[in-house]
Amino acid sequence: MSDCVFCKIVEGSIPSAKVFENESVLAFRDIAPAAPVHILVIPKRHLSTMNDAAPEDAALLGELLLVAQKLAAQEGIAESGYRLINNCNSDGGQTAYHLHVHLLGGRPLGALVE
Ligand code: 5GP
Ligand code: ZN
Repeated sequence: MSDCVFCKIVEGSIPSAKVFENESVLAFRDIAPAAPVHILVIPKRHLSTMNDAAPEDAALLGELLLVAQKLAAQEGIAESGYRLINNCNSDGGQTAYHLHVHLLGGRPLGALVE
C-alpha cells in the first residue's frame, strides 16, 4: 500500500524506533506515546483493519499478541501489568489504517473507555 504510513515503516522509507522484527511481524515505539511504554505491533503484510483479518490469518493474529507479551516482559511491565488494544474504524478511534495492536504500560491506565 503506497500511501500507508505503516507499510512505509515496514519498507524502511519512514524511520521508526524498532523493538522487534521477524518475517511477518514488526514492533516499534509509538511516535506520540500515551504511556511510558507504548509500542505498536503490526503484521508486515498490509491489512487495513481488524475487519480484514480472515480465518487464514489466525496464526498471524496470535503472533501479534505473543510478540506483545514478549515485549511486555522485555520492557519490564509484565508483572505490573499492561493493556493490549486494537482500535477498529472510526468509532473504535482508529487513525492509522494498517492493523496494529497497541502495547501500553508503565503506569496505571485507568478506565478502559472514555
Ligand atoms: P490508532 O489510533 O490507529 O489505533 O493508532 C495509531 C497510532 O499510530 C497512534 O498512537 C499514533 O501516535 C501512531 N503513529 C502514527 N503515525 C506514526 C508514525 O509515523 N510513526 C510511529 N512510530 N507512530 C505513528
Ligand atoms: Zn499498510
